[in-house]
Amino acid sequence: MREEQQDLNTDQTGPGEQAPAERERKSAFHEKEISCSNCGAPLSYLEGEAIITCSYCGTTTMLAGLDNIITVDSHYMLTPELNSGAAGTALRKWMQKGFHKPKDLPAAASIGDTKPLVLPYWIVTSRATTNWHGQDKKTRTTGTGDNRKTETYWEPVSGRFDEEFTWPVYAREKTTEFWGIDMLEPGKTSIHPDWGRFFLKLGGSATAPNRNLLEGTVGFSIEKIRDSGMEKNLVNGQITQERAEANARSRIVNRHAKQAESRATTITDCDTAVEVEKVDLVYLPLWLMEYSYGGKQFKALVNASGGEVMAAEYPVGKLARIVNFDILFLIIAAIFAFMASGGQTPWAWAAAAVFGGSAVLYTVLRTINPLRL
Ligand SMILES: [Zn+2]
Repeated sequence: MREEQQDLNTDQTGPGEQAPAERERKSAFHEKEISCSNCGAPLSYLEGEAIITCSYCGTTTMLAGLDNIITVDSHYMLTPELNSGAAGTALRKWMQKGFHKPKDLPAAASIGDTKPLVLPYWIVTSRATTNWHGQDKKTRTTGTGDNRKTETYWEPVSGRFDEEFTWPVYAREKTTEFWGIDMLEPGKTSIHPDWGRFFLKLGGSATAPNRNLLEGTVGFSIEKIRDSGMEKNLVNGQITQERAEANARSRIVNRHAKQAESRATTITDCDTAVEVEKVDLVYLPLWLMEYSYGGKQFKALVNASGGEVMAAEYPVGKLARIVNFDILFLIIAAIFAFMASGGQTPWAWAAAAVFGGSAVLYTVLRTINPLRL
């Protein structure tokens, strides 16, 4: 948020011209002003911001360098359909699913701070074609009988592949400024189980899918943002369209270079051509929610368009702990039992009994919990 940004190069404005609080705020964050190219309303923005959306008429202006002010025409959004209450309902529904979550989570979780965020993304619609050449290491066997021998040799290989993208580029510099935004990048871990001090922290996480953020978008409408009560956190972009396109290009080239590497033992030549069809600005409306359970705090990002939980932390319930514990200990017990059944190591029966017994004991302690653990 604006309040969290620190800037040490504080400008000094003349004393007595403004109320002290206002003066402090403006000088500390290098607030600047332009007029909306459509309605003429004054638009204030922070230094470094380049994509400025008018909160009166919804027109987006891009500052693409000195005196280069462009109106962004291909300007879309996902319609905010959920208010904060509906987002809470969507979050509780999500809490019901998955065996790693405690059974009482939906009922016992207490939802606290719920903050709207409307964040800008550039969507780079493009097609990439890669031509590659390389060498494959092969082995062959020649001769027969005593003359048989195996030799290695290199075989030239080549290929071509293409892929279509609607590549999302977050239009702000720092993905850590708002919780969870860095987790929305395709392939990043977005669902984080909290196992506490339990030692077998296996399973329960999920990675972000490669979403097409253009799907289901409508023309940007400031009225719809206002209707859902999200306009106060409509966040301006900092990255221009040109930079977003360059960023997407280089990441697509990297991705294809990696894919080519997996197709041959060595790659001698790899050439990727990226054709950009269009670049659109899409605003993604999100609810950043906090909830508490068992004295701990957790966070979640709920898509205000559709209600998907896009990133979240959650506590792990006792059932998942019992299953992880029992699987490990019963496998060890089975290995000892197998050894013992060979007859050579009779002591292994005892070890099998210890590990098998531990699994049973842990299940009983955790389920009935007579010691109140
Ligand atoms: Zn305007």
